[in-house]
Amino acid sequence: MSTYYDLCVIGAGPAGMSAAIRATRLGLSTLVAERQPGPGGQIFRSAESASPELLRLLGHDCARGRKLIRTFRACGAEFWPEATVWGLEPGAVYVSRGGRSRAVRAGHVLIATGAMERPVPVPGWTLPGVLGAGAADVLLKSSNLRPEGPVVLVGNGPLLVQSVHHLKALGVPVSALVTTGSNAAALRALPLAPAALLRPAYFAAKGALAARVLLGGAPRYSGARDIRITGRDGDFTVTFRTGGRVRSVQGATVLLHEGVVPETRATQLAGCRHDWHAKQRHWYAAADVWGRTSVTGVSVAGDCAGVLGADAAMARGRLAALNVCREAGRLSTARRDALGRADRLSLVRIRAAQRLLDTVFAVAPEVLLPADEAVVCRCEELTAGELRTLLAAGCASPDGLKAQSRAGMGPCQGRMCGQAVAEMIAQASGIPLEDLAPYRARMPLFPLSFDELAEMALPPL
Ligand SMILES: Cc1cc2nc3c(=O)[nH]c(=O)nc-3n(C[C@H](O)[C@H](O)[C@H](O)COP(=O)(O)OP(=O)(O)OC[C@H]3O[C@@H](n4cnc5c(N)ncnc54)[C@H](O)[C@@H]3O)c2cc1C
Repeated sequence: MSTYYDLCVIGAGPAGMSAAIRATRLGLSTLVAERQPGPGGQIFRSAESASPELLRLLGHDCARGRKLIRTFRACGAEFWPEATVWGLEPGAVYVSRGGRSRAVRAGHVLIATGAMERPVPVPGWTLPGVLGAGAADVLLKSSNLRPEGPVVLVGNGPLLVQSVHHLKALGVPVSALVTTGSNAAALRALPLAPAALLRPAYFAAKGALAARVLLGGAPRYSGARDIRITGRDGDFTVTFRTGGRVRSVQGATVLLHEGVVPETRATQLAGCRHDWHAKQRHWYAAADVWGRTSVTGVSVAGDCAGVLGADAAMARGRLAALNVCREAGRLSTARRDALGRADRLSLVRIRAAQRLLDTVFAVAPEVLLPADEAVVCRCEELTAGELRTLLAAGCASPDGLKAQSRAGMGPCQGRMCGQAVAEMIAQASGIPLEDLAPYRARMPLFPLSFDELAEMALPPL
């Protein structure tokens, strides 16, 4: 097994797979490391092994996922499933696989780590039976598990609408859809509506799905604030304020979702520059159209460089691979530009249309501020109230709060609390969130045993 590759791709989602296919076709030795047991990423997770029922439900997504995965498996790239990248240094990628870690040397690293569901702490979100809508989607795709109904869905974003549709199609009753979005946001998006014409098929499909969900019968509440969940698995009450009234709905399971945010810990560790998305309130790895970051030898593709969905992820993967080939001397600049023309054009269309979605589903900042009793750091069991006491004493940075409270030091390394902590600091200090440095990413990005670290195989220099 080689320990040197022209290209090491982190993540086998649509972006990573598309990059690997293009890079190997153009002659680069390519390794793809993926944490999950198979390729696919979030949207095409388990597409290869989907049951006939799931195939019917996911339809087009599953079919094109299968096709992409088939091409990827046959492309000649070396694929390491269940391989977690926990560290990065110039020229080396540290990967844990089967209880062993090794350092892979690569001429170029492409980070395609995708996105994750935005964690938004509300009182009761840690109760068993309360989970992310995206997490429920993962359980459905990977294990054919479905939540116990009736289900209450709470939050905002296109994936929440899709979840309602999936549940109904699977015969799981939905007791209510409680959205934190507002009709005002939809009105604000009206001037951008013509952008839908840039992706007519996409918006027609999503629009039809949304109409089915909205007319589908389950009670819907919008503009929800002060959300609280009480009860226990199988018997929950969700209380919230909307239009000046306090309401409550019951369900056996509660699914939360407030959009997805780029998974940027690897790009942060690599030292890449990040930009701030004001409407969606998240950081993303800054890159040009070829996926080049501020760090030489490190490129990005897909949602970690800004959430644009699967079509854009595939295009960005192909473009990044083309540029790596150019840098490796396999392509001239003119050939790279010619081969990338169609994908660059389609990215322009997707980006313009995405502004419409980002406005319709804009995140209301107050929704991201947790109530005092909400557990914010799940690993260290710290509530927002406890953290605010430290903030009142003058702490004004996420890393400072981490040092004082241990928030962000647990096994998840701040993935779950980082956003809420930054929002709370911005509110308490008056410093704009975009001026606050997020938790510093450190190796290992994922928990690693001392045994594994001590026995790590280092490549020959
Ligand atoms: C929970 C969830 C569900 C989603 N479902 C849908 C959907 O049904 N339909 C839709 O249109 N969009 C969905 N999305 C949006 C989706 O992320 C994008 O449309 C698309 O999948 C992005 O492709 P990508 O290749 O950039 O990233 P992803 O598909 O997210 O792939 C990234 C891959 O990188 C791997 N990875 C991450 N970090 C590491 C590491 N350190 N080491 C090794 N591997 C790593 C991940 O396991 C993952 O497989 C979902 C997003 C989330 C978060």
